[in-house]
Amino acid sequence: MSRSVLLVAERSGDHLARPSREAAGLARRLADGGTVHGLLLGGDLDGPAAELARCGVDSVLRAEDPELLPLRALPWATVVREAAARPAAGVILLADTIFGREVAGALAALWDASVATGAIEVRPAEGDRIVVRRPVLGGRAFQELLLDGPRILLTVRPGAFPAPEPAATAAPVAPFPVAPIPAPLRAGRSAGFTGDPAPAAGPDLGSARIVVSGGRGLRSAGEFRLIEDLARELGAAVGASRAVTDAGWRPASDQVGQTGRRVTPELYVAVGISGAIQHLAGMIGSRVIVAINSDPGAPIFKSADYGIVGDLFAIVPAITAELRRERGA
Ligand SMILES: Cc1cc2nc3c(=O)[nH]c(=O)nc-3n(C[C@H](O)[C@H](O)[C@H](O)COP(=O)(O)OP(=O)(O)OC[C@H]3O[C@@H](n4cnc5c(N)ncnc54)[C@H](O)[C@@H]3O)c2cc1C
Repeated sequence: MSRSVLLVAERSGDHLARPSREAAGLARRLADGGTVHGLLLGGDLDGPAAELARCGVDSVLRAEDPELLPLRALPWATVVREAAARPAAGVILLADTIFGREVAGALAALWDASVATGAIEVRPAEGDRIVVRRPVLGGRAFQELLLDGPRILLTVRPGAFPAPEPAATAAPVAPFPVAPIPAPLRAGRSAGFTGDPAPAAGPDLGSARIVVSGGRGLRSAGEFRLIEDLARELGAAVGASRAVTDAGWRPASDQVGQTGRRVTPELYVAVGISGAIQHLAGMIGSRVIVAINSDPGAPIFKSADYGIVGDLFAIVPAITAELRRERGA
């Protein structure tokens, strides 16, 4: 059944954020011959709009207004609801980022929709229904949800869907006029962060295609350079277990797991990590998991696609050196 899909895209600097690019690929499939409109909100949108226009959408709408900066969920949700009415969308897609989830929460009430967050699989069912699969209970189980139309709102996990190759021709880009946002919806601003929200060097952990994570097996903050070296060779983001962030070897923002970041890269390399359920909760949705651990009984091997049993202090530098050699460095 063909549908009209509205994709709410996010930027990453001057670019379209990778999770939004992936959501665009899913939007095209879900439309099933129907239309896909991409919506960007904020200001200074030239770069992201040009990239979104080549992601298989039929048009790109630019909602530019100072009220949409800094990011606040209710003003965004208000504008998204307006855009979803012209033309009437049956599905709204957002990437399952921290902000995407916040907007989805506000929008679910404003738009009166059936909602699923954190989708890792989406398939059409009979009529205008959609089946969504998502990890629940900290990644220990999967849930299938059957969502009914006529309005369905989905957030999709970064890394769970392939990003489309850039199209040869660009879709038209048009401004989307932002009506005045009622004062109560403009109230409430982020009062700041605690912890360490500063972005790390290299790819963003939440949307990286490859993540190399280190655990207590590294023994000290200094030895974490082995993880950084391997990550650099692979173009990967660096992650860590909670044992590592609790010890202060890495900032809290690098923690992967139930009480840290949830990542779904194409490749997750777990080095010296035992594989506690709370760690698995953050990375079990990764497409391919490689574990390096000296203990053949480590639980991580039950979840790994490939396992290397051995001393990380010998294995990791050898892999890094081999990658460097291949690169001719
Ligand atoms: C409420 C709650 C929430 C939590 N949230 C999180 C979370 O979000 N993320 C998270 O990660 N944890 C979380 N935890 C902690 C979790 O239970 C584990 O304690 C933690 O993940 C262990 O980290 P680790 O695997 O690095 O350390 P360990 O469990 O100590 O494992 C170290 C591993 O390194 C291996 N190793 C040692 N030396 C070498 C070597 N030379 N070469 C190769 N391998 C070696 C060992 O065999 C071992 O398997 C949470 C716990 C609770 C109670």
